[in-house]
Amino acid sequence: MTMCRLTMRARQSARFRRHSLGPFKYTGHTSAVAECVHCKMWVEVDTNPPANGIDIGGSAVALDCTKRKDDDRWARSARQ
Ligand SMILES: [Zn+2]
Repeated sequence: MTMCRLTMRARQSARFRRHSLGPFKYTGHTSAVAECVHCKMWVEVDTNPPANGIDIGGSAVALDCTKRKDDDRWARSARQ
């Protein structure tokens, strides 16, 4: 898979967990990492993972954003 598609999928997965990823930074020729601007959890993508590796991984695709929930609670109470 191309880096462009991988980072797009990583962003979708992170958004599903309510994260907002910052820009991806290359960590090697085939890998890049991005951090959630809210909670600093991260996601890493690799276009050429090892045979037993994964192409998208990290805490931001495994765990829900911890900071974003507070925003939602604030938004809900503000709306009422
Ligand atoms: Zn987050």
